[in-house]
Amino acid sequence: MSRREEKRKNCLACNKSLKRIDFYYRNGGYFCNKKCFKTYVLKK
Ligand SMILES: [Zn+2]
Repeated sequence: MSRREEKRKNCLACNKSLKRIDFYYRNGGYFCNKKCFKTYVLKK
């Protein structure tokens, strides 16, 4: 928990690494886009 990995974000749906500009932030998680977010939500 003490590690700093804030610069490196991975999509919670497809686990692809995200660039700052690319990501879609929602519900405390990072995603490529809205589609991946939806996929993640449906998986739950
Ligand atoms: Zn994704």
